[in-house]
Amino acid sequence: LADSVLAALAPPFDVDGHRLVVSASIGVVEARVADTTPADVLKAADVTLYWAKADGRNRWARYDPERAAADLTRYTLSATLAAGIEREEFEVEYQPIVRLSDSGVVGIEALVRWNHPTLGRLGPDRFIEVAEETGAIVPLGRHVLREACTRAAGWNAAHPGADLFVSVNLAVRQAHDPALVSDVADVLAETGLPARLLQLELTESALLGPAGRPVDAISALAGLGIRIAVDDFGTGYSNLGYLPRLPLHSLKLAGVLVEGLRGPAAGAGRIVTSLIALAHSLGLTVTGEGVETTAQAAQLRAARCDLAQGWLYARSAPWSEVVVELDRPRS
Ligand code: C2E
Ligand code: CA
Ligand code: CA
Repeated sequence: LADSVLAALAPPFDVDGHRLVVSASIGVVEARVADTTPADVLKAADVTLYWAKADGRNRWARYDPERAAADLTRYTLSATLAAGIEREEFEVEYQPIVRLSDSGVVGIEALVRWNHPTLGRLGPDRFIEVAEETGAIVPLGRHVLREACTRAAGWNAAHPGADLFVSVNLAVRQAHDPALVSDVADVLAETGLPARLLQLELTESALLGPAGRPVDAISALAGLGIRIAVDDFGTGYSNLGYLPRLPLHSLKLAGVLVEGLRGPAAGAGRIVTSLIALAHSLGLTVTGEGVETTAQAAQLRAARCDLAQGWLYARSAPWSEVVVELDRPRS
């Protein structure tokens, strides 16, 4: 029925000498009459109509309770984000970054979690995208940065010469925030963390603007002495041409590339080896992400990768737990 309605509307028609074209978007709801009220059906149809529009209009969509529930969750998340930041529901965990040569911890990556009042503890994959859409990522990111720098500054002050760096993720929207550079400079000044012990991780899409031009803030941040890392390197489709044009310090090899090192597949190994060689020729440090097995670590070491991060070494954990490991004397 929906198809025939769309087909009936498809041909152009003439009104007062003007050729007009209309299209329709249709939401189809199937429900048992006994279990639903007219208001429920209309509400569901309205949601479904919106999906048909979002999928490109001139089509019909069928109601899907799971998709509706996911939409509702997204809505709940976006509506409670700002208050959640105010109420300090966000917690930062830290995952050690180690030297491949001797597994010594050289840095920690800050990874945010949300203790949501009704939805429980949520990982960033559930809310970072929503926070980007609503703009809440800017205050949230500032909170994570301040927290991470405070921890790192305190620990380094108690361990002079240890030079533990802290690595903080920056979302696309943060990279384009005009206040980014002054915010970061303020946090460094407030917390007393030396700039060289802060690393900011950005994906290629955050480093390069829509037109493929390096984002201005990057050189300003690098100018402060902060390390800039390309996050999830190897998952984008860039032509690598941008690498020498950016003031980069390191590349983080995406987990999917490291995952390819699981078996004896020589092709994956060759790609990783060449990427590492390329990075080194540009003077960059390379961190392998998502290292889960000793075999992967061995292959990365053979490929001359510098640092590694992953469950093989440690999962992310609250600061109180990470600090116990950091303080444990090493043999
Ligand atoms: P990412 O930056 O690539 O962070 C690494 C993710 O891989 C983390 O997931 C980490 O827990 C996970 N991971 C670490 N080791 C392993 C391993 O051996 N195996 C596997 N399978 N996974 C491992 P998490 O914490 O869920 O973070 C997901 C993403 O959320 C991050 O990916 C990052 O892009 C984003 N994110 C996290 N915290 C922040 C933040 O404060 N700000 C922004 N903008 N993004 C954040
Ligand atoms: Ca990261
Ligand atoms: Ca990553």
